[in-house]
Amino acid sequence: MEKIIIRQISVGPLEVLTYLVACPRTKEGVIIDPGGEAERISAMAGEEGVKVKYILNTHGHADHVLANERLKTLFKAQTCMHEDDDRFFAREEIREASAKEFGLLPPEPVDIRLHHGQVLEVGDLEIEVIHTPGHTPGSVCFLVRGNLFTGDTLFVGDVGRTDLAGASLETLLKSLEERLLPLPKETVVWPGHDYGETPASTIAREMEENPYVTDFILDLP
Ligand SMILES: [Zn+2]
Ligand SMILES: [Zn+2]
Repeated sequence: MEKIIIRQISVGPLEVLTYLVACPRTKEGVIIDPGGEAERISAMAGEEGVKVKYILNTHGHADHVLANERLKTLFKAQTCMHEDDDRFFAREEIREASAKEFGLLPPEPVDIRLHHGQVLEVGDLEIEVIHTPGHTPGSVCFLVRGNLFTGDTLFVGDVGRTDLAGASLETLLKSLEERLLPLPKETVVWPGHDYGETPASTIAREMEENPYVTDFILDLP
């Protein structure tokens, strides 16, 4: 089996890690969390000869969806987000709070609302949606061939903020414990920001070194 195509770049005012993930055989692919700089993202897809089918958002925070509309037009692709975040960020008071928190426009409604356990077929790839609420109500991770795209749920050595609207640290830790830590240890963790010592990690390493895992989860009686 040919190696899956994965490219990572940091874009936009809040330095979001945006990913291109594609099937090596069909060159069909997705963009995960386009955080701005649509032209750079588009050029990256062009370099790999990838046809983008879906624009996937790990959650609805403004910095992770910034280039959604621009790329949707450019690629003629469909935008996708978990149903809970699509609903949450449609609420007027949340849009206002979010605009203040980020100084950026909140997301437009997406084309496809995702749910836990859903599988998106992209060429020969199967991309599984794992609902991991906590950072936002509809945060998800995307799992494809041993690669886990975690958005702001799990960073290298850290977790996402839980002081923003709709967030809960307790819920986030439960998501980590029940849905991410049981994954195979060698699963590669690709986070939504480069906040750690390295731009990617593994579940094994996070179980050993991430203080939120070691202090709050593995310490539980
Ligand atoms: Zn976020
Ligand atoms: Zn973020």
